[in-house]
Amino acid sequence: MTSLKNKSVVVTGGTKGIGKGIARVFAGHGARVCIIGRTETDGRNAERDLGGGVKFNQADVCKKEDVTRAIETAAASGGIDVLCANAGILPQARLEELTEAAWDEIFATNLKGMLFSIQAALPHLKKSAAGRIVLTSSITGPITGYPGWSHYGATKAAMLGFMRTAAIELAKSKITINAVLPGNVLTEGLSQMGKEYLDGMSAAVPLRRLGTVDEIGHAVAFLASEEAGYITGQTIVVDGGQTLPESPQALE
Ligand code: NAP
Repeated sequence: MTSLKNKSVVVTGGTKGIGKGIARVFAGHGARVCIIGRTETDGRNAERDLGGGVKFNQADVCKKEDVTRAIETAAASGGIDVLCANAGILPQARLEELTEAAWDEIFATNLKGMLFSIQAALPHLKKSAAGRIVLTSSITGPITGYPGWSHYGATKAAMLGFMRTAAIELAKSKITINAVLPGNVLTEGLSQMGKEYLDGMSAAVPLRRLGTVDEIGHAVAFLASEEAGYITGQTIVVDGGQTLPESPQALE
């Protein structure tokens, strides 16, 4: 995908986990990448790990003025061609213990944060020759369920409902919007869960391993490329086949 060279890319939640993998893949294609997150130390560490083409701008995506300022700063050095709305939180809470505050927090981050990021990037994406938005949704919610993640799954499914109307509105400006749906991905957080947990999760996946953050990045990079210019309002599941088996016996 040579079309990503010299593109200006913003990755919200690009300081850790999947977002850092997305940023690394774009930087590898020769793009200039702005990563956004709240924690200064993680942002500076990611800048150092990912190299010269990657710059950190601190912001909380839940705060409209904050994320707008960070995106304006990124746009000042060459506009914005690609927004990866990836920032998200994944706390677990069963129905009986799910508080109003926990519900509001996850919707504020995963949905309102996505909207604020898109609204801030939009004037710049409109000026791009090939404006692209790629959302990080999940298999959890749109396709599968997992105990403790009813609120999380609701946000990830809602992202896709949002995307389908946004795709129609944005088409006028020649901007595409698509989503990746990762399965279980080996992030820094997940790798601390221990071998037993990771082996158990891997056993549920037909390819018998968890995904890497870079593998999500490659799918995002494809959707952001000029080669994917006729794809909008669509999803790519990146899960090693995890959503396919009809029963545990199907994996034997
Ligand atoms: P992670 O390792 O915890 O990273 C989350 C990133 O988002 C960090 O950079 C974090 O930085 C940032 N972030 C969180 N809240 C933010 C806020 N209010 N404002 C700005 N940045 C914020 O999580 P992850 O597992 O990579 O998840 C990333 C995305 O992938 C999420 O949307 C998640 O739903 C999705 N996903 C993950 C998996 C998986 O297996 N890991 C599977 C499917 C989908 P700060 O905390 O410093 O702000």
